[in-house]
Amino acid sequence: MVDATFNDPDLTRFARLDELGLEATGQRIEPRRAVLACRVVESDDWCRRCGAPGSPRGTVIRRLGHEPLGWRPTTLHVTVRRYRCAECAHVWRQDTTKAAQPRAKLSRRGLRWALEALVIQHLTVARVAESLAVRWNTANDAVLAEGRRLLINDPHRFDNVTTIGVDEHVWRHTRGGDKYVTVIIDLTPLRAGTGPARLLDMVEGRSKQAFKTWLADRDQSWRDKSK
Ligand SMILES: [Zn+2]
Repeated sequence: MVDATFNDPDLTRFARLDELGLEATGQRIEPRRAVLACRVVESDDWCRRCGAPGSPRGTVIRRLGHEPLGWRPTTLHVTVRRYRCAECAHVWRQDTTKAAQPRAKLSRRGLRWALEALVIQHLTVARVAESLAVRWNTANDAVLAEGRRLLINDPHRFDNVTTIGVDEHVWRHTRGGDKYVTVIIDLTPLRAGTGPARLLDMVEGRSKQAFKTWLADRDQSWRDKSK
């Protein structure tokens, strides 16, 4: 049951920053986007090499595209502390892997939003990039990598699938012609009324040939129970 009481307005929870190990410390509303200043909640100030306490050595800002809130791009400016170990001189930064993958330009929420926007809501990569206030290549690379990571890490993703949908996207317009990606979606939960459609696979190429090749790679028992 949904809790019907109201709490105090809380930007950290509203923007789901608590899930990322972050806390909002400020906001800046610009005409075309909102910027949220954040800090990392875990102080992470013990040396990873020798366990001695570290002393602060300034901060760096990590910029992350976050999920758009109210259709407005939301960018995070995360202040990350640097430390130096008093004992062994090791230097490190606060761990931000809960907020984003190493070197990523999108927060984990932003990345999930991008993938769903593209696969479920059929937004173009250009529109996804615009909504996140990042470059086209940034959105494209992030979504492709995340799509593969999610799929490769789930060997049971084909279990209990009875209804699939195939969807062709123009992935990229190039001078030599358009590039296509065929997205294969599990429609079983939608049809059974148990949940939303989910991403099964992404293959390069146009839907008919790509799907034929993809299906040939599945085993016979799986093909028999799916249609
Ligand atoms: Zn140390």
